[in-house]
Amino acid sequence: KCHNELVRLKGNIRVFGRVRPITKEDGEGPEAANAVTFDADDDAVLHLLHKGKQVSFELDKVFPPQASQEEVFQEVQALVTSCIDGYNVCIFAYGQTGAGKTYTMEGTAANPGINQRALQLLFSEVRGKAADWDYTITVSAAEIYNEALRDLLGKEPQEKLEIKLCPDGSGQLYVPGLTEFRVQSVEDINKVFEFGHIKRVTECTNLNEHSSRSHALLIVTVRGLDRSTGLRTTAAGFGCVSSGKLNLVDLAGSERVGRSGAEGSRLREAQHINKSLSALGDVIYALRSRQGHVPFRNSKLTYLLQDSLSGDSKTLMMVQVSPAEKNTSETLCSLKFAERVR
Ligand code: ADP
Ligand code: MG
Repeated sequence: KCHNELVRLKGNIRVFGRVRPITKEDGEGPEAANAVTFDADDDAVLHLLHKGKQVSFELDKVFPPQASQEEVFQEVQALVTSCIDGYNVCIFAYGQTGAGKTYTMEGTAANPGINQRALQLLFSEVRGKAADWDYTITVSAAEIYNEALRDLLGKEPQEKLEIKLCPDGSGQLYVPGLTEFRVQSVEDINKVFEFGHIKRVTECTNLNEHSSRSHALLIVTVRGLDRSTGLRTTAAGFGCVSSGKLNLVDLAGSERVGRSGAEGSRLREAQHINKSLSALGDVIYALRSRQGHVPFRNSKLTYLLQDSLSGDSKTLMMVQVSPAEKNTSETLCSLKFAERVR
């Protein structure tokens, strides 16, 4: 209830910031100095010291480096469970490579991120309602690389998939051939994650580099069936045939590669990333400012997620930033992106 009140007040798009801690990789010299500070009495504001000037940003909430995975998830929970009620939800991690996107979404074995926690929560919520409702939870995993959509759970290597309009005239989009696994337990999802990971590792020469240049999507679908009537739930309430979808997206690194004289395939990758991240920004901005035309079709990502971004869908943009002095130019860009979509 509390969550729905929040949504009504703020609209369906929320923008959070998360600042990772300084790590060993940042080095030890002045370039590793901390450039981000917070307000003790306002958890929506952060300050960036860039080229000797302080720039302040206000988002919906900011998480300082010491915020745990659990604390972050607490703020995301209500959004996750709303897909049981038939809402479509998108959670994006945005930011330069090394800013903590994968940490937030996937996390580590000891500190799992949003993906794992979301599925775990969905399982337990659904179990609690199981008396008169039948729920099916399925997951798909895909990546978008150079504007090509690829199944991460399929049996065939390097499959390219197309996004099509549902033939039922509903206006919904679907991806023929995208593998969907039914999952019933945390063990099941671990197996699915492992499968997707192995596939990515074996098909990429350098997974780290590859994953920083592709968007990784985990698509969770929750279908609810009222046993007494055989009808499914939707956001509109009771009686229609539909389902809720949770899209968990680890975006490609937002750093501006093209400016440093990249050539050939690096340049092509950079152009695709720039194009799709700005298309995402444009779509969210258009939705936020209630513009009539929303340019969903300018990128594969926004086209694929059209159903989950429009209507009464809910979107969370988690903007990840590095606090290190040497990253302040990129941090500034990321925070400007955050402000624009907010
Ligand atoms: P990205 O996916 O944006 O490239 P990563 O998630 O891989 O960045 O993070 C880069 C490094 O920083 C990793 O070693 C990761 O474990 C660490 N890291 C990121 N965020 C945090 C955090 N909030 N707490 C602790 N370590 C973090
Ligand atoms: Mg990553």
